Amino acid sequence: MWVVHAGLIIDLFASLLEGATLILFPIYALLVWYACLRWRRQLMGVAALLLGLALIGLLARLDIAVRQALHLPDNGPLFRFMLYAEAVIVALVGGLLVFLPPRKLAKVPCRRCGYELHGLDEANPTCPECGTEFAAIKVELAPCAGCGLQTPACIEGRTLCKACLPPVGVPAA
Ligand SMILES: [Zn+2]
Ligand SMILES: [Zn+2]
Repeated sequence: MWVVHAGLIIDLFASLLEGATLILFPIYALLVWYACLRWRRQLMGVAALLLGLALIGLLARLDIAVRQALHLPDNGPLFRFMLYAEAVIVALVGGLLVFLPPRKLAKVPCRRCGYELHGLDEANPTCPECGTEFAAIKVELAPCAGCGLQTPACIEGRTLCKACLPPVGVPAA
């Protein structure tokens, strides 16, 4: 009777494990691949891939150890076969991702979001992507001496906004 129960529990455990691997394996692979892509062409990306593979190897060793410790029959090399298949897939795709060229850098990146500002009308525009003012170069703002509007500070002389600035060629009063 007890043997039957134990058999049932092991069967249940095995099917639970199978169900979990169906969900966990793809999630695990995606996590490793994300790290490869995130730190591609960097030591960190290679390290993430190696760590990802090492953990799969460790799980395979653990599977053997647990079976031996519990004197379970090694009736299912299936789990280890799935682990090895997972390792191969993770290694192949991760290896490709980690060597992808890094994202092309913008000539004139936005200070906040990195959006390409090169080619826009103004030299130091408001970023069309994230709305940061003076997105190319940080500008110290000061109130305009004429109207009080926040405007790029003038290093020499009075700070004046565009509207209060005297026309070019005419000296300020
Ligand atoms: Zn931006
Ligand atoms: Zn003004």
